[in-house]
Amino acid sequence: MTRVTVKNELNVYESAEARFEAAAQKLGLENGLYRYLKYPDKEITVYIPVGMDDGRLEVFVGYRVQHSLVRGPGKGGIRYAPDVSLDEIRALAAWMTWKCAVVNIPFGGAKGGIICDPAKLSQGELERITRRYTAELMDWLGPERDVPAPDLGTNEQVMAWVMDTYSMHMRRTTTAVVTGKPLDLGGSRGRREATGRGCMIVCDRALARLGLKREGCRVIVQGFGNVGSMAALLMHQAGYRIVGVADVHGGLYNEKGFEIPALIDWVHIKRKPLPEFPGGGEKMSPQEILFQPCDILLPAAVENQLTSQNAHRVQARILCEGANGPTTAPADEILEEKGVFVIPDILANAGGVTVSYFEWVQDRQGFFWRESEVNERLQDVMEHAFDEVVRYSETHKVNNRIAAYMLGIDRVAYALKLRGIYA
Ligand code: NAD
Repeated sequence: MTRVTVKNELNVYESAEARFEAAAQKLGLENGLYRYLKYPDKEITVYIPVGMDDGRLEVFVGYRVQHSLVRGPGKGGIRYAPDVSLDEIRALAAWMTWKCAVVNIPFGGAKGGIICDPAKLSQGELERITRRYTAELMDWLGPERDVPAPDLGTNEQVMAWVMDTYSMHMRRTTTAVVTGKPLDLGGSRGRREATGRGCMIVCDRALARLGLKREGCRVIVQGFGNVGSMAALLMHQAGYRIVGVADVHGGLYNEKGFEIPALIDWVHIKRKPLPEFPGGGEKMSPQEILFQPCDILLPAAVENQLTSQNAHRVQARILCEGANGPTTAPADEILEEKGVFVIPDILANAGGVTVSYFEWVQDRQGFFWRESEVNERLQDVMEHAFDEVVRYSETHKVNNRIAAYMLGIDRVAYALKLRGIYA
């Protein structure tokens, strides 16, 4: 059992730090390297003045944290949400460093966010916020410096505005400054599905290890946005049975399984509330869905869903973390005692950043790949990373999460040693 300690269980930065410390200790990371990798390289706060539709001038607070640029340019999403905080962005930036290293792509880790509620903003307001935020960060962004992507509350359109604003300042179209763009603006085939597809690939791998089969395997997905709906769709098409679904409005459970294409049509095309889906099922809160009977639990919404207060109620055999930070550090111990096979976020949801890397490569080559090529390369990267994490876990006798951290930290520390410290 790998024990970690935190003062405030729900502070994601503390959770991330606790796992980092446990993994660093297990690796025997020397003190100087430990201190260097523990803190971010840079934390930028910007105050974004925006003219609102009703004529008022509003000021929004935004952040960009670059945790590490040792293995390459910063990489990490931009989050728009009312509860964004610097601590959250710090944690997410560090996770990006370890995630990129776990899948062995040549990026460091970064993350950005703006405190705002996108559901309450007009398209014009969202565009002005995005453009001014990008303009404020001109000195730190760039294909060789720091490359954002979508995250909670942002999408392809927001990425298109980031790309355009950066390009206007540079006086040339620079598609590789951001990933997760629309296909017609240098986006990659397969990017929209990539995080969900990556989740399915590692679930397939976990099933094979546990001697289980896809057919009839019961899956619960919490969150029905980019990650959750794509994971549900691809897994449904592959023969898994999606028995539970939820978004912020509520959850539905049906032992017989849901017709996912019809549910996507209901939620994303018809824009109806998920819990009212005519396909049936027992209604419940978005959190209660996590504790229903299933083989695979796939949280793909927000942080801190499984805690020391409720992790004992999980019935799944496999936990595949589509979201970042859905499990707190103390909950890890409970899941380990219960024998749940955890596929930690920095491995499970790394399909997104992997295809973002492919998008960046394609933009820089000016040559675009077929979707089958993207998916094949993604499969290769995810399977290899899964196997390496499991190998670390067996060799060092630690759980999968600490193993993934160890693998990530080891790679970053090795690169840092090779580069040396510039003085
Ligand atoms: P999204 O904005 O597209 O979707 C979020 C979904 O979560 C929505 O369906 C929303 O209704 C639901 N939700 C919000 N609060 C909830 C709650 N309290 N309970 C239940 N459902 C809730 O976001 P996304 O891009 O799908 O990201 C989801 C998670 O996956 C985030 O943690 C994000 O950091 C992580 N992630 C995303 C990507 C990506 O490529 N988009 C990659 C890696 C990790």
